Amino acid sequence: MKYCDVCRRYTLEDICPRCHGQSLQVGPARFSPQDPYGEYRRKLKKQHK
Ligand SMILES: [Zn+2]
Repeated sequence: MKYCDVCRRYTLEDICPRCHGQSLQVGPARFSPQDPYGEYRRKLKKQHK
């Protein structure tokens, strides 16, 4: 998965098809909606409330 920081959109190409700029390689961990630490953070937030 690649991500264009200029257009702020995901692409599968090395070169962004929209702005023809270099897209960034993104790991699934950083941009995954399934955040493995999401639950942990929510628990912390609850404790602080
Ligand atoms: Zn772009």
